[in-house]
Amino acid sequence: MSTTSEILDRAAKVLIGNYARLPIVMSRGEGSRVWDAAGNEYIDLFAGFGGCVLGHCHPALIAAATEQAAKLWHVGNTFHTEPQVAFAERLNKTAFEGKAFFCHSGLEANEAAVKLARLRGQAASPKKWKIVSFNKSFHGRSLAMIAATGNPAVKAGFEPAVPGFSQVDLGDLEGLVAAVDDEVAGIVVEPIQGEGGIYPVDPHFAMELRKLCDKKQITLIYDEVWTGCGRTGKWFGHQWLTDAHGNVIKPDIMTLGKAVGGGLPVGVMFARPEIASLLVPGKHGCTLGGNPICMNVSKTICDVIEKEDLVTHAATLGEHGMARLKNDRKIAGKIVSIRGRGLFIGIELKNTPEKLVEKALERGVILNVTASKVIRLAPPVNISLDDWNKGLDRVVESIASLA
Ligand code: PLP
Repeated sequence: MSTTSEILDRAAKVLIGNYARLPIVMSRGEGSRVWDAAGNEYIDLFAGFGGCVLGHCHPALIAAATEQAAKLWHVGNTFHTEPQVAFAERLNKTAFEGKAFFCHSGLEANEAAVKLARLRGQAASPKKWKIVSFNKSFHGRSLAMIAATGNPAVKAGFEPAVPGFSQVDLGDLEGLVAAVDDEVAGIVVEPIQGEGGIYPVDPHFAMELRKLCDKKQITLIYDEVWTGCGRTGKWFGHQWLTDAHGNVIKPDIMTLGKAVGGGLPVGVMFARPEIASLLVPGKHGCTLGGNPICMNVSKTICDVIEKEDLVTHAATLGEHGMARLKNDRKIAGKIVSIRGRGLFIGIELKNTPEKLVEKALERGVILNVTASKVIRLAPPVNISLDDWNKGLDRVVESIASLA
């Protein structure tokens, strides 16, 4: 086995430097814990950017992957396989009545959603093609998705931008109405903005958004790449968005990534049946999308979340964690606000922290900082109360150590 420094030397020669990687080589994981090649142990409060929703090496997911791997690896999407159907049925049970298209990532799911919104728009009028999204949003890194993303840094250097995309402020209804002309085919919104700094959508704004989309025949797309699969203390983040009667304000299309594969590459575009029916053969596809091994894992993730009631667990631990952080005197002076739902939590600091991720790693906890001064916590949704408490203690110590 190579040492850490040998692997880092080899990596420098052969890997593109597009990630700000830390000089740590991770080698093993179990539950909410990971170990590096030097033997250091960490509590993982970020779960591989939210991918490892059931933590590392969950026995049920190992069994789902290996059983399927021994049976059938892959066939083209000219054939049916049962794992695809079984997983899509689970989405119908937990989200809303819909039909699924499978791909590998969040950005691909969003691309598919935008294509479908345009198909629907152009069936109504050849000029109905534009997409509106929100400032501070993130939707992926393809050319079209950086055009949809509301963060200038993500777009810089890749001009000219793909045409037809514009952004308004989240919650600014007047701005939205002004941006929405008859050429708008789709509106894309994250139920909780993730990369932007953990900003939940206000239910009243969601209601107005839904009304506007219905009135103008616009396809409403919820980008649930961060907020899907129990992360927020509901099966899907949009289930927090309810009207005055408690009815969930549903989208026309929901997109999933990250957690839906449990760490394997899975993306899903899930659309209401009458809209989904526009995506006829030849309009879209993905060679390895819906791979049986991945689908069996995705379906099993749903089974485990349901069987162990992890949606409630995430809600309970999230509330506990937010209260714990809000009441800690050691860090009160350093914090502007704590936001989020379930186990998707943002801690906004007063000042941009110096090397906070490194300080946290030294204390044995993995966290993330986004939007320059928002600490993001997104542990596996099955994290034990004990690990959550220990992890939070280390987060607090790390914040307290900031100048
Ligand atoms: N949408 C949201 C809300 C995201 O946060 C991300 C990635 O962070 C994406 C889409 C893109 O997902 P992927 O990296 O799987 O392409």
